[in-house]
Amino acid sequence: MKDKEVDVVVIGAGITGLVTAFLLIKKGKKVLLLEKNAKVGGQMETIREDGFVFESGPNTGVVSNADVVELFQMLQSRCSLEAARKEANIRLIWKNGTFHALPSGLLSAIKTPLFTWNDKIRILFEPLRKKGDDPFESVGSLTRRRLGKSFLDYAVDPFISGIYAGDPNKLVTRFALPKLYNLEQNYGSFIRGAIKKASEPKTDRDRMATKEVFSVSGGFENLAQALSDEIKSENIRLSVSQIDIHPADNGWETILPDSEESIHSRYVVSTAAAYALPSLFPFIAKEEMESISNLHYAPVIQIGVGIKESNGHVPNAFGGLIPSCEKQKMLGILFPSSCFSHRCPEGGGTLSFFIGGSKHPEYLSYTDEVLKQLVKEELHNMLNFPVDYSPEKIKIFRHTQAIPQYEADSEQRLASLENIQRQYQGLILAGGIRDGIGMADRIKQATKIAEEIENLI
Ligand SMILES: Cc1cc2nc3c(=O)[nH]c(=O)nc-3n(C[C@H](O)[C@H](O)[C@H](O)COP(=O)(O)OP(=O)(O)OC[C@H]3O[C@@H](n4cnc5c(N)ncnc54)[C@H](O)[C@@H]3O)c2cc1C
Repeated sequence: MKDKEVDVVVIGAGITGLVTAFLLIKKGKKVLLLEKNAKVGGQMETIREDGFVFESGPNTGVVSNADVVELFQMLQSRCSLEAARKEANIRLIWKNGTFHALPSGLLSAIKTPLFTWNDKIRILFEPLRKKGDDPFESVGSLTRRRLGKSFLDYAVDPFISGIYAGDPNKLVTRFALPKLYNLEQNYGSFIRGAIKKASEPKTDRDRMATKEVFSVSGGFENLAQALSDEIKSENIRLSVSQIDIHPADNGWETILPDSEESIHSRYVVSTAAAYALPSLFPFIAKEEMESISNLHYAPVIQIGVGIKESNGHVPNAFGGLIPSCEKQKMLGILFPSSCFSHRCPEGGGTLSFFIGGSKHPEYLSYTDEVLKQLVKEELHNMLNFPVDYSPEKIKIFRHTQAIPQYEADSEQRLASLENIQRQYQGLILAGGIRDGIGMADRIKQATKIAEEIENLI
């Protein structure tokens, strides 16, 4: 056994683990990053074929905090943030057999067929409506109460499909959309809160959170590669099939039987998914662990489609979402080539179809043939491609446990996480089990962990 001493062992080389390790190394700490897969990136994976670029996992993030901008500034010699084209800043919603643009101004809000007249008038009185007092209120119930059913059906339900592939009647607002929850709790109303917040003074760092949609030039895998190059291969172990971790004197002992290494560290940071935690930390009490490992993940299939000649059929928009009340199989379609450059050969297009989600886990069992047929039908039905059109590329990416669902059990999960971290000093359980599922949330969490550890050692 080779003995090694580092400050921090980080488990998992997805965005959270990579950014944590990168920032700690930048702060002068010794880090070892452990990954069970043969490559870094976790859910970030980009596939390039014949000039087409497809994402298996995330396609975009939102610049919702300054940490995202600062990360790309630090990495600027290796990879760059690509903001989505402004002209494609249009979201489409499917209703009665066609896509409609989500309103972006007062006039379009009045004219849109997406919402009922009753709800359009009702929304004027939203600031006067009573504040909710149920800390476990679902996103669905909150929306119905404050905005009306048609806003739930044709705005929030598809929006929740786009982010969580989830069910708005199960996701709890306080955990799944904390900013929305706080708007009502702190200001009594979404509209009043949004107006007040817009007029509050902003620091330079606040202003860096532009809310722009972004990707990475060439695809998200370039971000993973850039971070991995910075961390350096000697500080990363890939294809780690077994990790034995035990509390030890003044920290932790991590044994890697594959490489016959025994590593002593002050901190262990796990970014593994909830279902991976019981086998990583068998010494944690079963009842405590179960409230974390029971976290439900929505399954998703992403289908990348490459089109050689788009002939105007790929909309100049961010994407189209399909409300569940419309009873279609697809959750939504993204149009990456309309937002980002070099995603397809000149004159072509790329699309990403999403199917499944927590409302339809059974679609995960569809064969590739069935999925390909479905895509061809929807290209015709939803985007007016010729009926017999067959795209040049169809790439199917199945994720049986894709997106964590912050439902009513979140309070217990967060309490257990705190208890465990209090009981086992130096163990940090992070990743998507808490603090948000978006790429910006992941970067923010990693930045905070790196800062906390820097201040402690
Ligand atoms: C299909 C799909 C589309 C998405 N689209 C978007 C989007 O458009 N925008 C957005 O903001 N977010 C999106 N997300 C969510 C976003 O991709 C994730 O929240 C984020 O990538 C998770 O990063 P992570 O590092 O926390 O976890 P992961 O990427 O899951 O990384 C965890 C790593 O830990 C490793 N690991 C697990 N167990 C062990 C072990 N025992 N030993 C060693 N290593 C281990 C895993 O192999 C993995 O590499 C999407 C997710 C999916 C699946």
